Formats: sequence, structure tokens, C-alpha cells
Amino acid sequence: MANVVVVGAQWGDEGKGKIVDWLSERADVIARFQGGHNAGHTLVIGNTVYKLSLLPSGIVRKGKMAVIGNGVVLDPWALFAEIDKLTAQGVEIGPDNLMIAENTPLILPLHQDLDQLREEAAGASKIGTTGRGIGPAYEDKVGRRTIRVADLGDEETLDSRLDRLLAHHDALRQGLGATPIDRAELRAKLLEIAPKLLQFAQPAWKVMNDYRRAGKRILFEGAQGSLLDIDFGTYPYVTSSTTMSGMAATGTGMGPSAIGFVLGIVKAYTTRVGSGPFPTELDDADGQRLGERGHEFGTVTGRKRRCGWFDAVLVRQTCAISGVNGIALTKLDVLDGFETLKICTGYEIDGQHFDHLPTAAALQDKVRPVYEEMPGWQQSTQGARSWADLPAEAIKYVRRIEELIQCPVALLSTSPERDDTILVTDPFAD
Ligand code: IMP
Repeated sequence: MANVVVVGAQWGDEGKGKIVDWLSERADVIARFQGGHNAGHTLVIGNTVYKLSLLPSGIVRKGKMAVIGNGVVLDPWALFAEIDKLTAQGVEIGPDNLMIAENTPLILPLHQDLDQLREEAAGASKIGTTGRGIGPAYEDKVGRRTIRVADLGDEETLDSRLDRLLAHHDALRQGLGATPIDRAELRAKLLEIAPKLLQFAQPAWKVMNDYRRAGKRILFEGAQGSLLDIDFGTYPYVTSSTTMSGMAATGTGMGPSAIGFVLGIVKAYTTRVGSGPFPTELDDADGQRLGERGHEFGTVTGRKRRCGWFDAVLVRQTCAISGVNGIALTKLDVLDGFETLKICTGYEIDGQHFDHLPTAAALQDKVRPVYEEMPGWQQSTQGARSWADLPAEAIKYVRRIEELIQCPVALLSTSPERDDTILVTDPFAD
């Protein structure tokens, strides 16, 4: 049985929500393995729009198990706010359909404070984070001073974890001119939420391996995008987790052999939220048009996304690093009506040609995209459900992308509606 990992192959917001939903109908288990409530997925099912941040997309479907893996950083208050919102929309959520790995680190209000204090202090050199405390929470995890879900089950353990954590944070806060943490208040808040959270806690690695042995289909749902990866992204303008496919294994407690097919989600153009390099960014009417037609505003923060032409160099790079077997190309219809389209095929830096994005920031600053022009199409591709519905120029554009990124199209999405999808290769097939 092929288990599938879905990762965004650009800077996030590639349209993963729809694809994950489309695949989750065919999966038994849907697991998040990194990130937190910095993610934003919009699902459109019939007339209902669901907005998810932390919960795996499969939660809205009956009979599926949604898993929050240990690679995630979990804000328990954000989790229950999201659960309440979905419950009000008629989605039933309980331990029967949601499992949280007991070794998942928590995001606390102090992480959010620190995220925001640092961004304010950084001024123009800020990262442009979502302000959700993601980075500080991952720092505490690797700094061995975090509070994990299982720690909430024992007051003595919680007290010793709090001592260690607050010693660190109070010193940092003093340096940033903030007040010390109110320990008693934080402790009370944690003890209050503990029983609610612990009902979902499981040794998820064990249950996941049991699922695998039982032949269940597992869908690993990545968040953010490959270019925001802590190692391979445009550092330091990245998120604080590994967003590449390999994280699906360690972020849930399964070996890499559990992964059968890696599906990279790729938008037919490029967008980015927050600061950092963006070689094909457009500040002109074309960029404006992509933003308007593509409704490019962040799901989580509402920020306007930066827009630009398709960058084949970056997608080739991320598909290689994640071992992508096939891509799902999304939002092709946003390009309808352009006279001419441009694809970035390489970079020029100080007169030298590059077929990849160099790591050195000084070189990244000087990158100039090398473009290839292709004729656009005037017909609508929105809602196309077969290749025959697409204009010849659109097919040529897709084929050229496949060639340049060295990876085939497995799925083509032509509108937010789940059925407006052209299937080329079934990722779940053996
Ligand atoms: P953080 O993840 O909140 O620390 O933000 C770090 C960077 O990742 C910022 O540039 C954010 O805009 C970006 N980012 C985080 N989550 C997402 C996402 O789900 N989609 C797109 N960008 C994101």
C-alpha cells in the first residue's frame, strides 16, 4: 500500500488544502508532521468553507483518523478554538477521530510573546512571521526545556518543566524589556486544559505503526512550503521546522520506508508571504493581476501575498530535496487571459549562470532571473476536468514546467472545487 506525503514545493499557499482533502477521501489516516497553527488550509466542500490551521484536513470527513504528530508544535488553546469553530459547523471531533502524539511540544503564550517581541525589535530586518510562537516553541524543544503533552499528566513533572522553562524565558524577557511570566497563572491555565488535551494523547508512533501493519492508507499532510524549510529554505527568512518530505517519518514516529509516494504541490506561478528573497517577484501590473485573480491573501494573517512568475529553478531544487514523485499543479486558471507568460529557467549572478539558488545570502541578493517566454491562452481553463478541456497553449505550459522541474504532473487542479481536478497518476496506487 502506497502511503502518500504531500508537501508544498514553493513558499507555502500552493493550494495544499484542496489536494489533501481530495486525497483524504481515499485515505484512512491523515497525519500532520510539522509546523503548527501558522498553517492555513481552506477546504471547500459543497457549499461549506472550512478554514483549518492546526487540525489535519481529514478531520472534516467521517470515518477518518486525524493525527497530530510529534513533529508539530501545538498551541492547546488554538486547538480548542479551532475544534469549537468546526463543531459549530457540524463536524464531530473526539478521541475516535483525533489523536495527538503524547511527545508533542506545546506552544505557550510566552512563545507568542517572544515571537512578537523579537519581530518588533528587529524592525526592518524582521522575518515576517505569523506571530504564533512557532520559532520560540521549536527553540525550546531542541533546547530541552519544553513542556510536552504527556507532562500535563503529572503536577510534579509539570512544576520541574516550568522551573526550567521560566528560568530561560524570564531572562530573555528582561533583556527585551518585558515583564516576567506569571508562573501561577500559566500553571493554572495548563492544569485547566490538561484533561481536555490528554483525552486525545497517545503513543502515536505505536498506533501509526499498527495502522501500517493493518494496511491502512496513510496521508501525511505537510504544512508551509519547501522554501520555508529551516535547512534548505531562504534562511533566515524561513519557518522553524523541516518542511521537506523526510520529516513525515520522524514527525510521526515511522521509518522512511513507510512513505510510498511524495506529492509536491506546485502553484502555476509563485507567491510568498513575509520577508526574504524572491527572484521572480513582480511589482508591476502583472503581479497585481496574479494577486487579484488568485485571491492571494494569507489564510492565517490576512496579509497580501507577494506574487511573481513561475520559478522552475526553485521547484526543481525542492522536488529533488523532497524526492517528489509527481506534482499537483494548482491555480492554472489564474493565468487565463495573459498575452504572454514567463518561466524562470535559470539565474544570472555577476555574469555567471546558475541552475540552482546558491545558499550564500550575498549571492541570493544579486540573483537575476533568466526568463523563457511562452504564449498565453485566452480561453478559460477554470473547471477543466480533462486534458481535452484545456487550450493547447495551457498544455504546452504544463509540459514545459514538467520538463524544467524534471518531475511529472500527477494531478492538475483547475478550481477550488474538489471535482475540478485532472488525475494523471494516482498517488495511492501501488
Ligand atoms: P513562522 O512560521 O510564523 O515562524 O513564520 C516564518 C515565515 O514562514 C514567514 O515568512 C511566514 O510568512 C511564513 N509562513 C509560515 N507559515 C506559513 C504558511 O502556512 N504559508 C505561507 N507562509 C507561511
